[in-house]
Amino acid sequence: MRRAFTTFLQEQKLEPLQFQEGRIPCYTGWSPCHRRLSGGDVYLVGDAAGHVKVTTVGGVVNGLMGAAGVADTIVTGSYSPILKALRQELDLHLLIRKVLHGWSRQDYARLLKLLNDRARVSLGRYHRDEVAKLLFLVVLNQPALLLMALRSLLTGSSFPPSRLTDSRSKVSPNE
Ligand SMILES: Cc1cc2nc3c(=O)[nH]c(=O)nc-3n(C[C@H](O)[C@H](O)[C@H](O)COP(=O)(O)OP(=O)(O)OC[C@H]3O[C@@H](n4cnc5c(N)ncnc54)[C@H](O)[C@@H]3O)c2cc1C
Repeated sequence: MRRAFTTFLQEQKLEPLQFQEGRIPCYTGWSPCHRRLSGGDVYLVGDAAGHVKVTTVGGVVNGLMGAAGVADTIVTGSYSPILKALRQELDLHLLIRKVLHGWSRQDYARLLKLLNDRARVSLGRYHRDEVAKLLFLVVLNQPALLLMALRSLLTGSSFPPSRLTDSRSKVSPNE
């Protein structure tokens, strides 16, 4: 990766100020935020819970959302809608990642070609932490993207690769 990135910087005649890197957890599906351990309540949010968008690998907003959801759950005593929204957001990013996984240069070129003016306006209006609204509008404005996504899901390579999946058991939607 470093070699490919250095080549890219040279091609673009860019001088890096510094390199920053670190290990990023990979969200492969929702895990319960709450466990009882040794008689105590343990809540997991942020990177520790895998609350990271697997498209951008950003986790700051999702981590804070998870913290707000857990706080809300503790205060109200019922499963927070914030956690439901977070799960939906992370699942959508996982779906996008599955679509993009294995895309070739030509696929990305086709994507850029398909983005008409109205789809581009939607991309400018909503940010990456509002992906449900964003996807809906982009696909509404350019339905060919939906077909492209479906084709990728049916024929593309699978994500996450098997070495990244864990043996987690299925959880109910309210956990
Ligand atoms: C190079 C890089 C760039 C990134 N850029 C972005 C970005 O642009 N946008 C974005 O949204 N996200 C970005 N991320 C991801 C983002 O940084 C993380 O998702 C986010 O910081 C996770 O927050 P967190 O509080 O869950 O975990 P952390 O920020 O990792 O905090 C965990 C804390 O727990 C402490 N800790 C660990 N073990 C113990 C222990 N046993 N006892 C006590 N303390 C302990 C650690 O020292 C740390 O301070 C980036 C990550 C990297 C590596």
